[in-house]
Amino acid sequence: MYHLSKLRFPEVESLARSGRSLVILPVGAVEEHGPHLPLGLDTFAAEAYAEAAAPHLEDSGYSVVLAPAVSYGVARQASDFPGTLTLEPATLRALIVDIARSLARTGFTRQVILNGHGESPHVRALEEAARALAEEETARTICVGFTSDPAITKACIREGMQGLSRSPRPDREGHAGEWETSLALYCFPNLLDTQGLQEIEPNFDYDIDALRAEKKNYWTLTAGRGYFGSPAAASAETGKALVSIRGRNIAQVILNAFR
Ligand SMILES: [Zn+2]
Repeated sequence: MYHLSKLRFPEVESLARSGRSLVILPVGAVEEHGPHLPLGLDTFAAEAYAEAAAPHLEDSGYSVVLAPAVSYGVARQASDFPGTLTLEPATLRALIVDIARSLARTGFTRQVILNGHGESPHVRALEEAARALAEEETARTICVGFTSDPAITKACIREGMQGLSRSPRPDREGHAGEWETSLALYCFPNLLDTQGLQEIEPNFDYDIDALRAEKKNYWTLTAGRGYFGSPAAASAETGKALVSIRGRNIAQVILNAFR
């Protein structure tokens, strides 16, 4: 895998000319993730999935180029928490279109937006950008990770995860719960408050319909705690398996899309 920002321009030129290049643009957000996880988690997760997906794509003959991540997104649900930053959906859409057009001008027309942040207006902005790029025939841009298509999101995020949870309520795991905490324990343990982790009480008793319908925000749904599920059920081992499974899943979805 090549990191675009670490390459020199002649290397980029030959990669673009090879006809086998595939660019991944990770997209995340700056958003609270409970008292124990860093605000950049969704961006770091998208980067981890990209790195885990890359070897599978390379096995199929692609040269994978990782573009610098877009670390900002639409994060309105958690806006009551300190540090959460949000873009307007139109800003995000325009940002993605600008980056994708530049990539295409270089010759990178096979483009993957790998999204780590599930909020609906955020996801829609990314998909609108991909549609606009398709309409103007700039590039073949696909969205993977968290998308508005339940089948694609399932194929990327949930497939193969059965039996991995150690939570007493796997059905209630969500934002900043067992999964994201496990990913953090595996990928960037130095950014966690591991000391307090075991003392964090589970939050299973929240209005799941209001969450799904986005009728309440994260502050009101969690009484200011900022997480859903059981962060204490997390482990680095689970995180390792999760990253490997989702990396393979996402690679498969990408390969199917570009077949
Ligand atoms: Zn998250």
